[in-house]
Amino acid sequence: MVVVGAGPAGSTAAYELAGTRDVLVVDKVPFPRHKACGGALCRSHDWPNAFPNFAEIAADLTRQPCHHLRLFHDRRPWWEGRGSHFFDHVHRHELDDLLLRAALARPGVSFEVFRLRSLRRRDDGLLELSDGARYLHARAVIGADGVSSVVSRSLGNPGRGPRRAGRCCEVDLVCDKPHDSSLVFYLWSGEPGYGWVFATVDGYYVGVGLLGEAGRGARRRLDELIAHCVSEGFLPREHRVRRIYGALAPATVGPRVADGKVLLVGDAAGLLNQISGEGISYAMRSGQLAGRILASGVATPEQEYRRAIEPLVQQVTYLRTLRPRLLGGVLSAYLQLAWLGGKVGLDSALKAPFVDRFAGRTSLPDGSSYARL
Ligand SMILES: Cc1cc2nc3c(=O)[nH]c(=O)nc-3n(C[C@H](O)[C@H](O)[C@H](O)COP(=O)(O)OP(=O)(O)OC[C@H]3O[C@@H](n4cnc5c(N)ncnc54)[C@H](O)[C@@H]3O)c2cc1C
Repeated sequence: MVVVGAGPAGSTAAYELAGTRDVLVVDKVPFPRHKACGGALCRSHDWPNAFPNFAEIAADLTRQPCHHLRLFHDRRPWWEGRGSHFFDHVHRHELDDLLLRAALARPGVSFEVFRLRSLRRRDDGLLELSDGARYLHARAVIGADGVSSVVSRSLGNPGRGPRRAGRCCEVDLVCDKPHDSSLVFYLWSGEPGYGWVFATVDGYYVGVGLLGEAGRGARRRLDELIAHCVSEGFLPREHRVRRIYGALAPATVGPRVADGKVLLVGDAAGLLNQISGEGISYAMRSGQLAGRILASGVATPEQEYRRAIEPLVQQVTYLRTLRPRLLGGVLSAYLQLAWLGGKVGLDSALKAPFVDRFAGRTSLPDGSSYARL
């Protein structure tokens, strides 16, 4: 069994597969590694119950809780919530390393640096993975290789062009923090997507993610956001840039999420919430499902997996095909209408459904620490 990609999806899949068979996790880079991400773990108080691997690492993970969230429509304040736990902020190099180590501590799980370039099914039914020089062979493969997944393309899925991915640009700022709030700017500068300021343990992550052609201007929009936040006092003038990076994020679930004993999980499958951009919990949940299904030895893993992840696909998907400008227009009209409604006392009725979607509170498990707004 080979798991390609050692992010949250791949490590969770490997953790679940452990003990039932030999599991090789491969990644194109050694760990710990950087991953461009806002690092917000939504509903993380529920995670120890949902994910046994997270329960194991929870005490070692450095977190900055967010109890104050402010949403804006471009520059105009739209909604503000205090007191509730919205998410924990983490640095991904630490989270992903801890999750990988939890998987490697389990019986039969090993790790190698290997950059997958091609995957094919041989006549004898074995799957052959190649990095161009070496070959690995497996009876089953979990494709957890992220947004530009080679495993996904080997199943015939199209690559991630502007209609199937958002472009993000993010900066990790180190500074004295004037506050521990997190801010989200929907339709920042009128573009389809949003900007964010997430408080970290030692500063802020500030980023912009934009859909379609607007993505080309992500870096410029990020500079505008930082300048705006400094002028409004949301960010201190004195700060040090620890790191700046660009990245793609999937915007739609691919047409094929499984084929025989090849299962796609996490970003490789396109499991990213189209409203919030949340992907880590979906990555772990899909990895968990794929791992459990393959570990069970069922004769039809493809069908089982398709059925099992359908509720996740429903949760993340609002539009099967993205038309970024149309999406921006509809969202703008809704945000405007809800804002006007707020003036005549309809604030919570009109805004709560959207905030619940942003905070990932639409389908909460029994016994959840969270409630809908
Ligand atoms: C800027 C940005 C901000 C985000 N903010 C948030 C947030 O705040 N909260 C949230 O929940 N989600 C967020 N997301 C989404 C989240 O980062 C992803 O959904 C999540 O990382 C998916 O996990 P994964 O394991 O599927 O993929 P990844 O974490 O991308 O891991 C994939 C792994 O595969 C490896 N790999 C790739 N190609 C190959 C190859 N050819 N061969 C071998 N290995 C390979 C990579 O090195 C990587 O380690 C954000 C995304 C972006 C881009």
